[in-house]
Amino acid sequence: MARFPDHWMSELLSKSDIAAIASEYTLLKPKGKRLWGCCPFHSEKTPSFSVTPDSQMYYCFGCHAGGGVVQFVMEMEKLSYIDAIKYLAQRVGMELPEEVDDDKLRKERAVKERLYAACKAAAMFYHEKLMSPEGKTAQQYLAKRGIDGAIATKFGLGYAPPGWDNLLKHLTAQGFSKKELISAGLAVQGQKEGGCYDAYRDRVIFPIINTYKRVLGFGARTMGEDTPKYLNTGDTPIFNKRNNLYAINLQKGEHNADLIMVEGYMDVISLYKAGVKNAVASLGTALTQQQARLIKRFVPRVYISYDGDSAGQNATLRGLDILAKEGLEVRVIVIPNGMDPDDYARKFGGEEYLSLKDKAMTLNAFKLDSLMNGLDLNTADGREEYAKKACALLSELQPVEQERYIPTVSRRTGLSAETIQRQCGVTPRVEGNIIGNNRNTKQKSREISQGPNKAEISLLSCMINSSDALLYAMDKMAEYGIEFSSEGLDEFAAELLAVNAVGEKPNIPVMLSALPAEAAEAIGAALSADEQMIDPAATAEDCINAMARAQLDRKITELAAQMEQDGSSEVRSEYMRLVRARASLK
Ligand SMILES: [Zn+2]
Repeated sequence: MARFPDHWMSELLSKSDIAAIASEYTLLKPKGKRLWGCCPFHSEKTPSFSVTPDSQMYYCFGCHAGGGVVQFVMEMEKLSYIDAIKYLAQRVGMELPEEVDDDKLRKERAVKERLYAACKAAAMFYHEKLMSPEGKTAQQYLAKRGIDGAIATKFGLGYAPPGWDNLLKHLTAQGFSKKELISAGLAVQGQKEGGCYDAYRDRVIFPIINTYKRVLGFGARTMGEDTPKYLNTGDTPIFNKRNNLYAINLQKGEHNADLIMVEGYMDVISLYKAGVKNAVASLGTALTQQQARLIKRFVPRVYISYDGDSAGQNATLRGLDILAKEGLEVRVIVIPNGMDPDDYARKFGGEEYLSLKDKAMTLNAFKLDSLMNGLDLNTADGREEYAKKACALLSELQPVEQERYIPTVSRRTGLSAETIQRQCGVTPRVEGNIIGNNRNTKQKSREISQGPNKAEISLLSCMINSSDALLYAMDKMAEYGIEFSSEGLDEFAAELLAVNAVGEKPNIPVMLSALPAEAAEAIGAALSADEQMIDPAATAEDCINAMARAQLDRKITELAAQMEQDGSSEVRSEYMRLVRARASLK
């Protein structure tokens, strides 16, 4: 995200009053601390749109649009972030700044530089341990998966020895503070005042490195039965998994025609070993727009090569839509017998794996297949249901593309091509249809994720108001693996943390101005919360627990559904573990 100098943004925002600007679009009347009017973003008769002049935020209690003045202009005038800033600058007669040079930015950079240095030193430490006699079990573990010393070095793999303070001692001796190590995700705050311990113990380490060859964070895999199988660095001031891809650092300067997107670190490494050197992995999240843009910087086409069972899931399909929407050509590799790329490449070799690319499906063909999931095409009801869904998808396509898929749908449903054509022409676009192309992304994504929930909004409010609550929340979220519901909120929280680390007060309007709409809305809601915050840390704890409960409930439901198809003891024991964890949370 482009950034303007904070002092310049502050001046711009101080001159751009949200109340004055919003008044150009709707009639606002004061009531209490706010101004109220009919929402300019949705049609209504009674006012649910509010502007809070104190915090310079707007929020609609009807459609949940919200944010600061920049978001308002972006949304209202349909402008990009940069153009919205230009629009505001022009409005108040300010010149655009030439150079970004700002004290706070410098300080933040200095903090980040320290964290980069700490992560680099940690990566070297882990790698040396792997290569030393101490790393013998880890070497054997990797050797069993076909990974030799040369590959381990190429990927900078490492080993975190057992024990609570190996890395801590090593890095504090090099002058890093405990606070820095905690901030970088390398150490974890202990219960006791000032106490902390190594984040990764007795695990194989996969450093996550960006395109500038900087180590941002780590994935750590257990070699035994410990759970979780993978521990990953949570969001830190230098690392946000939504903005990064594993092994993208190896793609710089390679000029490949395409990238292969896989799910796991081991998939990337096994493929590399087999001679397929253009694989990257998403870092355990559904694909994001930032990742799509990152890929687009390198290649015009991306092959998706996920495990059979995860490829057809809605979350995956949404991710693929995000790639397509950024203008990438998306193809889906289907691996026979539901094998994952790691197994397949090790068993049959790289050549054989690459031959699957020739049979890869277009995104639309893949979606048409996925729509059959859960339907019985041997019944008339099933066929009819499929025809409707397939036609809803086809109706979003250009006529020339429709032509291509109509025979397939006709064959599957037994309906004539003509009927299907008619159905494609008349089917109204289904709102919130996640399979369809994203014409209406904003509205859809809001429906799918249901937006930020109450706990999340109160938590944000706590984090903004209290640095104790902020530190506590970031810690616990990393520990429980909880994330915010929308992309920019993690960024916002990391930024709060960075500002807090240098002992400053966050400039919320400035921070907010650079965030995507969804995140700005949630923060708008957080700042609009009227409740008196008596004990932010305690409230934060309640919110985190509520979020952890909701997350566990979601996972438990998913696993319960999975158990119906897959009764393996692995799934069952994971299920029991989650149920126990849920019970302990009350
Ligand atoms: Zn509204």
